[in-house]
Amino acid sequence: MYLDLKGKTALVTGAGKKSGIGYAIAQKLADSGANVVIADMVKKDDGSQPPVSGNREEMIALTEELSRRFDVKAAFVAVDVSNNSSIKQMADEVSAQFENVQILCNNAGTVLGVPSAIHTYDDDAWLKTLDVNLNGVFRVSKAVIPLMMNTGGSVINIASRAAKVPPLFNGAYAVAKAGVVMLTKVMARELAGNGIRVNAVCPGVIATDFTRWRFNLEAQILNSTSEDREAEMVQSIPMGRLGSSEEVANLVAFLASNQSSYTTGQAINVTGGQLMEL
Ligand code: NAP
Repeated sequence: MYLDLKGKTALVTGAGKKSGIGYAIAQKLADSGANVVIADMVKKDDGSQPPVSGNREEMIALTEELSRRFDVKAAFVAVDVSNNSSIKQMADEVSAQFENVQILCNNAGTVLGVPSAIHTYDDDAWLKTLDVNLNGVFRVSKAVIPLMMNTGGSVINIASRAAKVPPLFNGAYAVAKAGVVMLTKVMARELAGNGIRVNAVCPGVIATDFTRWRFNLEAQILNSTSEDREAEMVQSIPMGRLGSSEEVANLVAFLASNQSSYTTGQAINVTGGQLMEL
C-alpha cells in the first residue's frame, strides 16, 4: 500500500525515545513523506523510573536523522503533556515553524506508582497517571486542533488493550486509556464536519523499554523473573510473540493517510490476536 503523506505535517507526542512506539510512528510518517515534529519531555537527571527519554541534544539528533534519511522537515519541541503552559508553548512553536498540522498522534503515556489493588492504590499515582494519559490527550488536542482546522486532518490517539480488558493492579492506567477511547469517539463526532477524522489504536504487549521495565517490576512483586513474566504473557497471545513498535506505527500511518478516508471514531486493536473483540 502506498501512503502518500507528502506535504503534510505530523506532530507526535512522546516520540523522543528511539526504542519507543512514538519514535517508530514518527519514523514511519517521515518515511511516508510527512514533515514531523517530535514532542517529548526533556530528561530530568534524577534517576526517575521508568527510564526516561533522552536529553534535548539527543532528541534533536533524532529529528536530524529523520530529516536526513527521509528528506523531510523535522523538528523537536519540548513538552510536558500534564502542563498547559508547556503545551501552549509547543503549539506556538509548531505553528511558527509549520503553520498548519494535518496529523496529530497523541502517544505520550506512562504508568506511575507500583501495581496495586484499588483499595490500596496510592492517590497521587492515580491522579498523575490519569493526568498524563487522559487529560494529556485532551489538553494537547485542544491546543493543536485549531492548527488543523484550515486543512482538515487525522488525529490518532494511542490507547491500549488495557482500555478494553482490565489488567490486574493497574487500574489508573486502564481507566485513563478507556477514557482515551471515549474521548476519541467524542472528538470524532464533533470534528467530522471539519474534515478531521479521529481514531484510537489499542496496542497489546509491545517490545519497548517500558514493557521490559514493567516485566521487571511485576517479577519483583510476584517473586518471579522478568523472563518468566514475558513467557507467561506470550502464552496468552495467539501469535506467540510480543508486537513491535513498527507494527503499531504501520496502523497509525494508515489511519493518518487517505487510505482510511471513511474511518473515524474507531479503537483498533494491534494485539497479535490477544484481543479479538471491538
Ligand atoms: P515509552 O517508551 O515510555 O514512551 C512513552 C513516551 O511518552 C516517553 O518518551 C515518555 O517520556 C513520554 N511521556 C511520558 N510522560 C510524558 C509527559 N508528561 N509529557 C510528555 N511526554 C511524556 O512507552 P511506549 O511503550 O513507547 O508507549 C507509547 C504509548 O503506547 C503510551 O501511550 C503507552 O501507554 C502506549 N502503549 C504501550 C504498550 C506497550 O506494550 N509498550 C501497550 C499499549 C499501549 P519519558 O521517557 O521522559 O517518560
